Amino acid sequence: MKVLVADDDLISRGLVKALLLKWGYEVTEVNDGNTAWNVLQQKDSPRLVLLDWMMPGLDGVELCRRLRGSVGSGYHYVILLTSRDSKADVISGLNAGADDYIIKPFISQELEVRLRAGCRILKLQRSLEEALETQRYQATHDSLTRLLNHGEIFKVLEKELCRASRQGTPLAVLMGDLDHFKKVNDTYGHLAGDAVLVEVAARMQNSIRLYDAVGRYGGEEFLFVLPGCRLDEALLIAGRILAGIREQPVGFRGIPIDVTISLGVAARADGGQPQAIDLVQAADAALYRAKLNGRNRAEPAAPVTGRPAG
Ligand code: GH3
Ligand code: MG
Ligand code: MG
Repeated sequence: MKVLVADDDLISRGLVKALLLKWGYEVTEVNDGNTAWNVLQQKDSPRLVLLDWMMPGLDGVELCRRLRGSVGSGYHYVILLTSRDSKADVISGLNAGADDYIIKPFISQELEVRLRAGCRILKLQRSLEEALETQRYQATHDSLTRLLNHGEIFKVLEKELCRASRQGTPLAVLMGDLDHFKKVNDTYGHLAGDAVLVEVAARMQNSIRLYDAVGRYGGEEFLFVLPGCRLDEALLIAGRILAGIREQPVGFRGIPIDVTISLGVAARADGGQPQAIDLVQAADAALYRAKLNGRNRAEPAAPVTGRPAG
């Protein structure tokens, strides 16, 4: 565990540092509050902080207050280490946001156990953050293919469409549906069908640019959001996706399974103000035509202007 020690007194800082190193902590030391603040703003800064109250520049209590008032730098467990020993000082130190308060001179055992208490809180905090992150991932991703799920890819489309309308930039969507996928399940089994979905999803993710998005819209249906893409560019990307899926069969337990996809392509008309659902519906209708025209192909929709208001 990393610890930041901020103290302008060289001897006191040296003493604390020696103890921390003996107990197995990694130590970053600074001799004033402003430097401490800068260190704490960095990514991967120490989460455990030992602060002297009186320091040049920003003092320990002011630093605490700033830390608690700032968002986004993660939780820091702060122990004020100071010779100010009145009850009023303790109260104002804790009131400023310190988690704990140790009065100098202290006995080393006290510092040791209070640091341990801080470590416990930080570990708890870390596992809570991880659980939240897992939950967030699960709420927004499809568990089989790991692509964005239906709700999330639709949200991406709404956000990108809003940006495109405001900035007057192009935007296209592709709606894809695997061809005769029921036959894959019927012939090779449901597990093989799942494996095909996973592999096809990975290939689709690899054939788009970093700022494009693809999500699993339904069972074997996929929605792509391509910001900045005109219809002709989107058709080129569609060609790349078709090729990436058709050219290499998906292997399942040594069996090569041929897979193809049909795509409907729709783009926002210049100056148009379509809703997300208008683009999805246009791409869906174009996809239907791709199926009718023989599958394993992409069909464009007419530029989508959106419905007139009222
Ligand atoms: P088309 O070319 O007209 O799209 O034919 P299709 O067989 O692909 O279309 P249909 O809608 O008849 O069948 C889709 C199939 O996709 C049926 C469903 O069981 C299968 N499917 C949907 N989700 C999953 C899944 O998560 N895993 C597997 N293995 N199959 C799935
Ligand atoms: Mg389907
Ligand atoms: Mg299908």
